[in-house]
Amino acid sequence: MKNIAHWINGGPTAGVSTRRAAVWNPATGEQQAWVALADQQDVNDAVSAASRAFEHWSQTSLSKRTRILFAFRELLNARATQIAEAICDEHGKVVSDAIGEVQRGLEVVEFACGIPTLLKGSYSDQASTDVDIFSFREPLGVVAGITPFNFPAMVPMWMFPVAIACGNAFILKPSERDPSAAMLMAQLWAEAGLPEGVFNVVHGDKAAVDALLDHPDVAAISFVGSTPIAKYIYERGTAAGKRVQALGGAKNHAIIMPDADQGFAAEHLVAAAFGSAGERCMAISAAVAVGTAGAELVDIVSKKAAAIRVGPGRDPSSEMGPIVTQDALKRIVGLIDSGERQGARLAVDGRGLVVKGHEKGYFVGPTVLDAVTPQMDVYKQEIFGPVLSVLRCETIDEAIALVNSNPYGNGTAIFTSSGEAARRFQRGVRVGMIGINVPIPVPMAYYSFGGWKASLFGDKHMHGPEGVSFYTRAKVVTARWPKSEEGSAASYHFPTSS
Ligand code: NAD
Repeated sequence: MKNIAHWINGGPTAGVSTRRAAVWNPATGEQQAWVALADQQDVNDAVSAASRAFEHWSQTSLSKRTRILFAFRELLNARATQIAEAICDEHGKVVSDAIGEVQRGLEVVEFACGIPTLLKGSYSDQASTDVDIFSFREPLGVVAGITPFNFPAMVPMWMFPVAIACGNAFILKPSERDPSAAMLMAQLWAEAGLPEGVFNVVHGDKAAVDALLDHPDVAAISFVGSTPIAKYIYERGTAAGKRVQALGGAKNHAIIMPDADQGFAAEHLVAAAFGSAGERCMAISAAVAVGTAGAELVDIVSKKAAAIRVGPGRDPSSEMGPIVTQDALKRIVGLIDSGERQGARLAVDGRGLVVKGHEKGYFVGPTVLDAVTPQMDVYKQEIFGPVLSVLRCETIDEAIALVNSNPYGNGTAIFTSSGEAARRFQRGVRVGMIGINVPIPVPMAYYSFGGWKASLFGDKHMHGPEGVSFYTRAKVVTARWPKSEEGSAASYHFPTSS
């Protein structure tokens, strides 16, 4: 059985802790590896290595840092398929989808390659007589990223390319359910010439996370995961004096107006609800049909959902893979049961799906629940599985009010052919990322990613300009170089400009 170690100070290490967790293959239901679970001493070792590395890395010129980022970008591009296959084996998603997530991470690396431009400061010449003022930004020190199972390559890459480009040393605590992508990326950094200790991987559970949150030498924490843990991370991290950005869960709505092309909307809804088995923080899980839109939409969506080919992610003909764990599968099936009990109509029922040759895999088929109401558990809870709930509203304003009364605010979309409706929607919803005829509006790397309300604790979104801001802090210098023949003109009143 393969053992997955930590990566500390430039190479793999088993660490001190003897605790470990099983890593499963969701397509077969078999264990495929053990992953080490760090204790406090392992985290202390990683922080010490990162602190030492920071001293040198933060002083390394922008040109040298950029060269290493470019080298990492080339290696990542060359090994994208290898990383995607590792993700497929541990997460379950189909390989083509996993390649897509590596590609989206790669775009953040490309953004970070522009760090010399991104870190340019500002300069005010002769702000006061013979006085100049300039500002620039410095890295924070050792920063940590704690990431979820559903994007084991992309979400860490929302964080570390920018953090490292800015001159920080980084410790990644990936999900213990799919830890291999992190190790492959660590290997690529080493090959790209990143000095030892600048990028470290510590595997683990709550014990490792708490050790990072409490460690006095960790300056900042970036977190992505479920809302209760995001809130906990934010509260404990900020109480320990750290800068924290903690992205939480989601319940993303798509509003379908009667004037929308129903075929186009249905096709995109199905892809957004069932891609990656719905295990995406930007997946559409609630479709809100406005006015007369409902009947035709549910009909087309149901036909398309029922036709999705579900199977192991390594099979190129599969369009949707298994669920990540048996527990997650049970939770999803239990929620579909509750929807049925509470009065929703099962337009497509994915329960009980058996994939031939993979009878022990964690499969559930695409499921469409119609006539869902806001009081039902399927609507109130984040399902994080291939389940689309359809709700009905009379008007766009009612639909916007529904979106706004939901505690989450990650992403939302509208399908319409009316510019007036689109504009009313984009201005009216209290949500961080908005799509207009685009169901999964994940911003490009040069914009920042983040939700509102229970989908984000903290005030900085990830990557893009806000990422650079999160991983650096500002210095403002006010400078005067008096001529030696001038006397001192200091006075005792508060300095004003002259
Ligand atoms: P999770 O919250 O269970 O785990 C996330 C991370 O926190 C993991 O590294 C895990 O080891 C750690 N963790 C788990 N329990 C902990 C505890 N009690 N104390 C300290 N650390 C703990 O999330 P998950 O199941 O891995 O991922 C799915 C969730 O992530 C969904 O809710 C999804 O919406 C969310 N997500 C959000 C975004 C976003 O951008 N907002 C992106 C991806 C995923």
